[in-house]
Amino acid sequence: MSAPGQGGRPAAVVAVVGGGLAGSLLALELVERDLTVTLLDDGSATATALSYGGVAWWAGAPGPLAGLLRRAPGRWRRLQARHGALGWRGCGLRLHGGGWTTALLRSRFAQVDSQALMAALPRLLVAAGVRLHREQVAGPPRSVAGGWQLALASGAVLRADQVVLAAGAGCRSLAPGLPARLRTSWAGVLALPERSVLPQPPPTPWVRHALHRRLVQPRHWRRPELEGQAPSLREERWIVDAGFAPWGEGLLLGQISLVRPGLERGAPPAADLMEVRLRQGLARLDPILARLPGPYRQVQVAFCAGGVPLVGPLPGPPGLHAFCGFAGAFAQVPVLAPLLAEVIAGTADASTLARLGTVPG
Ligand SMILES: Cc1cc2nc3c(=O)[nH]c(=O)nc-3n(C[C@H](O)[C@H](O)[C@H](O)COP(=O)(O)OP(=O)(O)OC[C@H]3O[C@@H](n4cnc5c(N)ncnc54)[C@H](O)[C@@H]3O)c2cc1C
Repeated sequence: MSAPGQGGRPAAVVAVVGGGLAGSLLALELVERDLTVTLLDDGSATATALSYGGVAWWAGAPGPLAGLLRRAPGRWRRLQARHGALGWRGCGLRLHGGGWTTALLRSRFAQVDSQALMAALPRLLVAAGVRLHREQVAGPPRSVAGGWQLALASGAVLRADQVVLAAGAGCRSLAPGLPARLRTSWAGVLALPERSVLPQPPPTPWVRHALHRRLVQPRHWRRPELEGQAPSLREERWIVDAGFAPWGEGLLLGQISLVRPGLERGAPPAADLMEVRLRQGLARLDPILARLPGPYRQVQVAFCAGGVPLVGPLPGPPGLHAFCGFAGAFAQVPVLAPLLAEVIAGTADASTLARLGTVPG
């Protein structure tokens, strides 16, 4: 089960399930610690690929996690220095709604362009030594003598010393006993492949911001409030947080969020209805943006009610870990991945993660 490591030592094999932001950054941290890493991703639906990628390190998180998030910009710069371009860039942010005169109006912001990130990751992971497999893990990992066994949809079986569940909305089907605070929402955007469809000269300030590759967001996000209400919902609820973000040569215009009661993944909501609702919400910001062509795309996103993600070993046989349910993933993942990697590598115990409140169980 173990592979040869540096100096003839066997390097423990870690299987990471999920190749979005969480699984990929964790895999990079693990290979840096001389572990042999296999990254499994089914390529089905990756929230990361449709993300605005805003790195809101100042937006706050519950408890001691808030202080840690200030390190996120430094972590992204370090990752880029070590592995090459990942889409990180400083950019302008414009907020709408509420008091327009405050300093936040022109605050400096940072974004990881999710299209650039997803394009760069496969090459960069392979160059770092991660073994990439396009495979679906078919069910919960099974504890076997000295490690774990993963049944793959292809019929193959993979054995590993340790397993990390970083499969976003797919995590619960791999570990049904995960805490009830882990939930999923549906998020929808208009994913414009080209900004060239924007009218020139820009007829509104919002179109100008889009052409200048600025992020535009509501001053008061409704999504965190909806996520906080998730455990008490009796019927599905949706909201629109009108805004947009550069996305490669294109633009993501969104976003609509839908949360259902309960823990099941459920079927996708009707895309045509979600698109109509999104366009109505966008029209309240700028009717020109609301008429842009699209296409509409939606994806399932994992989150934790209360805002503290699941990061750390799961109760039960040792060697099974969770890395999912982020709020502000682009700030949380780069600072939490090294902490979990230390625990998996055996160079730290889980007490730091326990203090942050992220350890499941
Ligand atoms: C429109 C939108 C805007 C957003 N804006 C921001 C923002 O500005 N800032 C921010 O911080 N966050 C933002 N987010 C949230 C953020 O993008 C997500 O929280 C984050 O990308 C989740 O990353 P992840 O790796 O945990 O999950 P994912 O990116 O969903 O990756 C999980 C991967 O696991 C794979 N998988 C699932 N099950 C299996 C299985 N059984 N076997 C193999 N593979 C499997 C999936 O195919 C997927 O590739 C936004 C999200 C959306 C949709």
